[in-house]
This record gives sequence, structure tokens and C-alpha cells, in this order.
Amino acid sequence: MKMKNKSVVVIGGGAAGLIAAGTAAENGASVNLIEKNNRVGRKIMITGKGRCNITNNCDVQTFISNVPVNGRFLYSAINSFNPWEAMNFFESLGLSLKTERGNRVFPISDKAVDVVDSLNGYIEQNGVKLINDTATALVINNGNLCAVKCKGKTYEADCVIVCCGGKSYPLTGSTGDGYTLAKQAGHTIITPKPSLVPLESCDSECKSMQGLSLKNVSLKIINRSNGKTSYSDFGDMLFTHFGMSGPMILSASSHLRDITAGKYYAEIDLKPALDFEQLDKRIRHDFTENSNKDVSNSFSKLLPRKIIIPVLKRWGVPFDKKCNVITKEERRKLCEILKAFTVDISGFRPIEEAIITSGGVKTTEINPKTMESKLLNNLYFAGEVIDCDAYTGGFNLQIAWSTGRLAGNSASI
Ligand SMILES: Cc1cc2nc3c(=O)[nH]c(=O)nc-3n(C[C@H](O)[C@H](O)[C@H](O)COP(=O)(O)OP(=O)(O)OC[C@H]3O[C@@H](n4cnc5c(N)ncnc54)[C@H](O)[C@@H]3O)c2cc1C
Repeated sequence: MKMKNKSVVVIGGGAAGLIAAGTAAENGASVNLIEKNNRVGRKIMITGKGRCNITNNCDVQTFISNVPVNGRFLYSAINSFNPWEAMNFFESLGLSLKTERGNRVFPISDKAVDVVDSLNGYIEQNGVKLINDTATALVINNGNLCAVKCKGKTYEADCVIVCCGGKSYPLTGSTGDGYTLAKQAGHTIITPKPSLVPLESCDSECKSMQGLSLKNVSLKIINRSNGKTSYSDFGDMLFTHFGMSGPMILSASSHLRDITAGKYYAEIDLKPALDFEQLDKRIRHDFTENSNKDVSNSFSKLLPRKIIIPVLKRWGVPFDKKCNVITKEERRKLCEILKAFTVDISGFRPIEEAIITSGGVKTTEINPKTMESKLLNNLYFAGEVIDCDAYTGGFNLQIAWSTGRLAGNSASI
């Protein structure tokens, strides 16, 4: 049953907060949305490289299998507002969508700002009052949640939905305030850690290869202690001054736990389209073509310029050795290096540079059917502040849409 004028305060005007506020207002609640930035959705603006990978066009089961941390907790939320419903929702707001490789959904315009505009339209249309202020504390009297204290003013509320995001990209406003508010209500915070984050390497060669983007290579991340492959993928990656980044590396990071220097190393197949024998044949051909040249001058067709010296150093053959005197053993050693170019991993980049914060409000303390706190009545959580995180592909925003929608409905009905 719809209840008029129930007062709801939503803290945080990001993905989760915007949909939670709009939903609660649509159900008839009187909603104050508190956002500390002077405009909402700053993080949405930078998602998907400014294109916003809004969701993943997949069924619930596939969705949950892409949430490595606390996926099961999300069953009710995703079932109650699944990716297809989210797509219909955005289309109904006038945002046309398209599905690309890997079921990734984007606005047809390729503009994240259009996603923010459509959500802005949604909250406006439903009469949400947007307040530019910073929430500093929950006001709890005799065990009852009754208001939210902000820097400027205190806002009374029947229900409060905390949607402050995590700790990544703090310039967008996500600075971990949600954890402070949750702790006030007695919640446990699973220590925030970076996820979907670039990887650091002590390997000085990374710096010399800075800016080199490898396209269509195979990557394995191997745990040195047991020799097991922790992650493998095919795609694109990038060398940076600190180590490695790019789509495959970010995805790899969410499969790695407790990195210590030397625990993991990356093994890159620089020539995945050629098997070992085909590669050997190709190199033999190149060496024959360049027979009187130094080996160091014979790789320009085979490899990008920036990786030639690191490959030569690993190979150990003098740079000025002539191609026509390279032995079969030397050639085969070169093939081994190209098929398994290794880079040591020493750690994650800091959480500020992570796409996602792993950790946050402990899921067993939240009712998965409503998003309400099990510790304090009328307090709800939605989005990245909760200890759930997913791989890349639109899954993280969908978590925000689904939990935000569910919290907005639960708090207002
Ligand atoms: C570079 C980058 C690219 C990404 N690309 C994608 C992508 O393409 N697809 C995808 O699915 N996910 C992507 N993500 C992840 C996705 O953006 C987040 O998972 C999602 O934005 C989380 O939504 P949220 O509402 O929980 O938090 P946020 O979007 O972080 O919003 C939190 C809001 O709360 C406000 N706030 C915080 N504290 C207070 C306070 N005390 N008082 C008032 N307001 C407060 C903040 O200012 C902010 O506006 C990307 C993330 C990054 C960093």
C-alpha cells in the first residue's frame, strides 16, 4: 500500500542514491536527497570512459556469477529489478540503449552525461528535493533513527537510505563517509580494499615500456607459491610507469587476494595467434631476411618498439650478434620468451585509483529482501557502500540500480 508523506532522507546522489530517491518519491514519500557535490552523479559521468556501461544484458544467474564478492546476498535485489527491467526503466526515461560485445549496455549516444540527465529528470519529475550538503551523522534517539545531521542543517526522517559509495576516486565525492554513518548504527565494516585496479610491479622495465599498449595478447596471472594460474584472459593491456593497467589487468585484480611482492607474476603470450612452431618459423624467416644485420635490428616487424629491448635483455644474446649466426637453441629460447613474457607483480595501486571498493557494510547485517539494516530499524543501504563487488561489464552499476530501487521501495512503502 502506498503511504503519502512518509519522509525519507537519501544520503548520496550517485547511481544508487538517485534511483533510490526517485523510487521512494514515486511511491509517494517526501524525499530529501543530500549530495555533497554541487551536482549529482559525478562518478557516473566518468564511467565506461565517459560512455557509461550502464548494465549487462544478461539473466540473473549469469549476473550473480559475475559478482565474486557476496553475489548471493544480491539475489533478491537483482530479481526485483533485473538488468532487463533496468534497461526498460532507462528507455522509459527517454534514454535509448545499445548492447555491445560482452553484453555491455551503453546509451546509444555514448554519453554518460545522458544517463545522469535522465536520472535528474526522474527525481525532478517525482518531486525529490535535492539538497547540496554533507551528511555528518545519523541522529538516533533512544534507539530510534530520527534524522540526519548535515554540515548545514539537520533533516528529520522516518527512514534513511545511505548511498555514499565506497572510497575509490574520492574526487567524485566517494570518500568513505558511508562507513562512518554505518558504524554509528553499530555496523561492521569489512576493511575497504581496491578492486578493478591497476597492478604495480618492481620490474624497472615497465617504466621503460610506459605507454605501450598490447592488443590481443594472452595473459595469465600465476601464483608463484603453487604454480597455479589465478587468472587468464585474452585482450588488451597497457604498461605504465608503475606497472600494468588496461582492461585485462583491471579484471585480473579482482581475482587476486593479499598481494605481497613476488607472490604473483604475469605471463604474457605476445604472439597468441602463432603456436610455438609457427612462431619459430616466422622468426627463422625474419632472421633470414635480415641475415647480415644485428639481431637487435631484426624485430621491427615482429614486436612493438618499446618491448624489443626488454625481450633482448631476457634473451641474453648480445644485441650486435648477427642474425645468420643465431643457433637453433637461441631461437627456440627466444620463442619461449615471446610466448611467456613475465612481469613481477608487487601490489595493487591505491584504493583511490580503483574502479571499485571491495569491502564495506557487512552483508549479514543487512536484510537482503529489503536492504534494511538488521541492527537499526528504518536505516537502509544501497550501492557500493555495501560489501559487494563485481567484475567489469556493467555489473557494478546494476548493483547500484537494483539495491537502490529495492531500498527506495522498502523505505517508502
Ligand atoms: C573510472 C570508473 C569507471 C567506472 N565505470 C563503470 C562502468 O562503466 N560500469 C559499471 O557498472 N560500473 C562502473 N564503475 C563503478 C560504478 O561507477 C560504481 O559502482 C557506482 O557509481 C556506485 O554507485 P553508488 O551510488 O553506490 O556510489 P557513487 O556513485 O560513488 O555515489 C556516492 C555519492 O554519495 C555522495 N556522498 C558521499 N558521502 C556523502 C555525504 N557525507 N553527504 C552527502 N553526499 C555524500 C558522493 O558525493 C557521491 O555522489 C566505474 C567506476 C570508476 C571509478
